[in-house]
Amino acid sequence: AKEVGKNNYQFFTKELDEKNTKKMRLERELHKALERNQFQLHYQPQLDIHSGRILGVEALIRWKHPELGTISPSDFIPLAEETGLIVPIGNWVLKTACRQNKEWQNAGFPPVRVSVNVSMRQFTQLNFVDHVKEALEQSGLSSEWLDIEITESMTLEGDIFHSALLKLKELNIHVSMDDFGTGYSSLSSLRHFPINKLKIDQTFVKKLDETNKAIVTMIVTLAKNLNMNVIAEGVETTEQAAFLKGMNCNEAQGYLFAKPMPAQKMADFFSRTFTV
Ligand code: C2E
Ligand code: CA
Ligand code: CA
Ligand code: CA
Repeated sequence: AKEVGKNNYQFFTKELDEKNTKKMRLERELHKALERNQFQLHYQPQLDIHSGRILGVEALIRWKHPELGTISPSDFIPLAEETGLIVPIGNWVLKTACRQNKEWQNAGFPPVRVSVNVSMRQFTQLNFVDHVKEALEQSGLSSEWLDIEITESMTLEGDIFHSALLKLKELNIHVSMDDFGTGYSSLSSLRHFPINKLKIDQTFVKKLDETNKAIVTMIVTLAKNLNMNVIAEGVETTEQAAFLKGMNCNEAQGYLFAKPMPAQKMADFFSRTFTV
């Protein structure tokens, strides 16, 4: 029995070592990824559920590494947060998304809002809003066409969170609460924050059983009562879309309409009307 225990222990530490080595390699590579131009943004349409028109696009980062292949943001964003690299990476995302949106407008496509995901560590930097301003100024994009996606956990940051939100509002920039329903925000505190849109988390949309239907209905009602817009993400089936439409949800986003795609591919989608 002693033998087995010892082997298990060795096996365990070996596994841990491998995991750590892998993480350290990823971290080393992440430091070089920006200067090596390994990041790219993909864009996913956000539709008006009633007219089927494109109202916005969400920018989603992609990391293409020559040896490691494509690394999912769920795998490297947490590491970027941990190391602080999220700040330069996040600034790159802001600049690239604004520049791209302005390019689409210059090309004559109907103007849409570009939604940019912002991490906690990035949002709570004291000069975060200065970086946002810089991205708008450098690109020439008007502030009304930018949307910042934040998450509920940031409300825990209290004053820093609140003052950043107020500055964004002053600049006429939209703010959406991502993954809504999964976090910690107390519902009554929402009232005090200038937030334009609630984004229903995809876990509720994915499995529309009685419980999740009740939750979705509750979030839509809450948004209406607080004078906010509401979008459902992760819409994959026509049944889900029909339910959301019947619920009077404003917007929808998901594989049913389009997967995230490189900027060049978006051109085909701008003039389309989707059937929701
Ligand atoms: P998120 O912001 O909640 O983004 C939604 C995720 O769901 C995206 O995954 C998107 O590709 C995926 N998705 C969209 N429609 C569907 C659908 O119909 N079904 C399913 N199953 N999935 C769908 P992605 O691109 O892998 O991004 C994962 C997460 O990484 C994002 O979750 C976000 O938290 C983070 N992320 C992505 N880009 C950025 C970024 O530029 N900055 C920061 N800070 N975080 C980012
Ligand atoms: Ca998002
Ligand atoms: Ca989300
Ligand atoms: Ca998420």
